[in-house]
Amino acid sequence: MRKKKTMAFLLALALLFTAAACGSGNGETTGGQTNGPPPTEQMNPPEEDAGDAAEPVIEPPAPEPEPYQISDPKVMPEGGQKDGVTYAAWNDLVEHLFFHPIIAYPELAFDGDAQEQGLDDYMVTVDEFNRILDSVYERGYVLVDINDVWSETTDADGNPVMVKNTLYLPEGKKPLVLSYDDTNYYPYMLDNGLTYKLIIGDDGKIWSWGLDPGGNEVVSRDLDAIPALDKFVEEHPDFSPFGAKACLSLTGYEGILGYHTQTDTQSWTDAQEAERQKEREAVRPVIEELKRTGWTFGSHTWGHIRLGSGNMEKIQADTQRWLDEVGSLVGPTTILFYPHGERPDGNDWKNTGPTFQYLQEQGFRVFCSVGTQSFSYIKKDICAVICDRLHPDGKTLRWSRNRYLQFYDAKDIMDMTVRPDYGVGTDWDTTGN
Ligand SMILES: [Zn+2]
Repeated sequence: MRKKKTMAFLLALALLFTAAACGSGNGETTGGQTNGPPPTEQMNPPEEDAGDAAEPVIEPPAPEPEPYQISDPKVMPEGGQKDGVTYAAWNDLVEHLFFHPIIAYPELAFDGDAQEQGLDDYMVTVDEFNRILDSVYERGYVLVDINDVWSETTDADGNPVMVKNTLYLPEGKKPLVLSYDDTNYYPYMLDNGLTYKLIIGDDGKIWSWGLDPGGNEVVSRDLDAIPALDKFVEEHPDFSPFGAKACLSLTGYEGILGYHTQTDTQSWTDAQEAERQKEREAVRPVIEELKRTGWTFGSHTWGHIRLGSGNMEKIQADTQRWLDEVGSLVGPTTILFYPHGERPDGNDWKNTGPTFQYLQEQGFRVFCSVGTQSFSYIKKDICAVICDRLHPDGKTLRWSRNRYLQFYDAKDIMDMTVRPDYGVGTDWDTTGN
């Protein structure tokens, strides 16, 4: 008994140390070689040893969350003004940019291995990401939540339909939706210079956890696009007048947000299930804090499957699994992000085929693909919206400079000093630019 108490006390001390390290600075290393993310147990508060009041009980201080306000851009502020800012109706295009997780350590991403090309194509580095945020902010974009852009209502005949909402924005500002795909922290990302998971720091905020190229643990708010955007909005509150951040597009097959919340149909034991339940409990506070601070969630299918395959059995099983393993944690969503940008049933804005119909019946209303403009189309025959997103990444930085000039100039963004020498498009040579 005595020994157990001492152990509990030591564990509590260790936890205090771990918790203190979480918020201790930007990109600060907490030392030591480790082989992977900290086990979930370290994230949980120590169990209280009932029956002995004499032992000192040391608990990490419960962080008092800073208040965070989320408001509705569909409602004109009273008198047309808020905090001295005049608001105006916006009925024009709502731009939509999406990112993949960003590269914390370019030297690990661009190291000439088999993943280098893919990382160059689909991702941006932390520095590039920050420059993009600076640029869209300077150009007058403000963040809105994708869930506020369209609403479900009924038409004159009583049929459910989607409508585009009027948004009331600070005068002169333009709305911007952000989404982040695959914020699951897949193993290949961990091996290639990205962060490993999201955690709650001792300040109650979202931090990332990972390993630097030397194998040292790093807890930071600067190395991951989620805390980095939180920080940017803290520093530029007028970038998010309604408190919106981005919509996180989640698969389920490798867990979510760095937690192993997934099942495996090949082998499943009681021990595996117990471990999974622990991970589910561990990710809940992270989800809660994300939601509280303006982040929303959408489905990217459980298995990152191709929705154009027409394999209904597979699509139905996958959808159910996403709802069971991811939806049960993040809550209901009406947003679906097509994996690989692949549209169901061929051309989804001309046809409403069986796959689209099925997905709509599961509650999805906003179907997002990838394209060359922030195109959107409200379907006439079914209550749904289709929208394309633009994709700031190595591919478009190199080859689509002109198409993104309204947001930023790739010349000012792309970090040639860390990326491989894969060339750039002819539109980089425009004289006078
Ligand atoms: Zn994806």
